[in-house]
Amino acid sequence: MTGSALPGLDSLDVTGMVVLLRADLNVPLDGRTITDDGRIRASLPTIDTLRERGARVLIIAHLGRPKGDTYADRAAGGPSLAPVAARLGELLGVPVPLAADVAGATARAIAASLADGDVAMVENIRFEPAETSKIDEVRGELAGRLAALGQIYVGDGFGALHRKHASVYDLPRLLPHAAGQLVLAELSVLRQLTTDPPRPYVVVLGGAKASDKLPVIGSLTRVADRLLIGGGMAYTFLAAQGHQVGDSLLEADQIPQVSAVLAEAASAGVEVVLPVDHVVADHVGADASAEVVASPDVPAGRIALDIGPATQELFARKLADAKTVFWNGPPGVFEFPAFADGTRAVAGAISAVTGVTVVGGGDSAAAVRLLGFPDDAFTHISTGGGAGLEYLEGTALPGLTALEAP
Ligand code: ADP
Ligand code: MG
Repeated sequence: MTGSALPGLDSLDVTGMVVLLRADLNVPLDGRTITDDGRIRASLPTIDTLRERGARVLIIAHLGRPKGDTYADRAAGGPSLAPVAARLGELLGVPVPLAADVAGATARAIAASLADGDVAMVENIRFEPAETSKIDEVRGELAGRLAALGQIYVGDGFGALHRKHASVYDLPRLLPHAAGQLVLAELSVLRQLTTDPPRPYVVVLGGAKASDKLPVIGSLTRVADRLLIGGGMAYTFLAAQGHQVGDSLLEADQIPQVSAVLAEAASAGVEVVLPVDHVVADHVGADASAEVVASPDVPAGRIALDIGPATQELFARKLADAKTVFWNGPPGVFEFPAFADGTRAVAGAISAVTGVTVVGGGDSAAAVRLLGFPDDAFTHISTGGGAGLEYLEGTALPGLTALEAP
């Protein structure tokens, strides 16, 4: 888990070799248009280094839902990596050909055609159901076919490291391997958050569901000084405290766990700050009209979609003296401008902090960029959501375990 045993690119001689580079290029798309290319940009340092050293780079990546897409969906316009390959080609200034399959005839042909310094991609790895199989032999068969495409494996897909998937966990065991620069950079930031972070250490959590993030909240109560909770998950917390939540997102079955986490935080001396007002609507949509409710209780028939102005100020106050901040999950439905003020306020308050500020999570990272915050407004914008949270929880990441193994 410490990453100290993690070999980097310098440990490999890649000249003239086909290097299978597992990257995380899972960008948000609006149709076929990439709305935030942050993950592609974050993958460039490793790609550049490999090219400079004369490697033949063949990229393996996923796009879209964890499960269920197939080659048949691709024919029907499903999540092909074509827009990603096109954008990567623009950023590199060289064409990036995309194989029509993952580890079949066209992938083999493209691998064989690469010259030193060239870059190509195979199609969305999740078109192969074996990628995400729970059965070792099934994943192993796909990993074997992938391994035959090249001679070396580089793991740089930080956002996928928590997945026990064929291209993340099984493939590195079959080839000489190393971690890419993005993975090393992400881990070094996360290590700062887990080893003696400067205090006060404030954690801001939001996003959709409480159930996704309860395990990490439990472990954060052991390191953080304050927890600010907004977003959809806040409503299960408010309900646990006896507040009315109207038609807001509520996971009633999680209330006992939420109450337990609140008790744990109280006994650890961690301050938990919940919304004191809300921006509500009568339905979720771009056309919904926003209304402020100046109370922690949400009226019947109303859905809370953002933190209100008093909560924005309260959160900003609780962030003002922070020396370390970790933020995961937008506090409102920022995708709709009427419900983006809370996310803008939180991003603004965090960017004003002088100390280590880390934004984690695919949607959170996309949100700060969509709202116009420059990347250098924060110490680090992580490319990983779940991977970062699992690391902070202290869970072993399968992809990291595989890269650390000799
Ligand atoms: P991240 O990808 O940064 O980890 P999540 O995936 O957990 O974040 O959550 C992001 C989603 O949470 C966004 O799509 C946002 O619209 C949604 N969200 C934020 N606030 C609310 C809310 N009050 N009700 C419902 N959904 C919300
Ligand atoms: Mg998300």
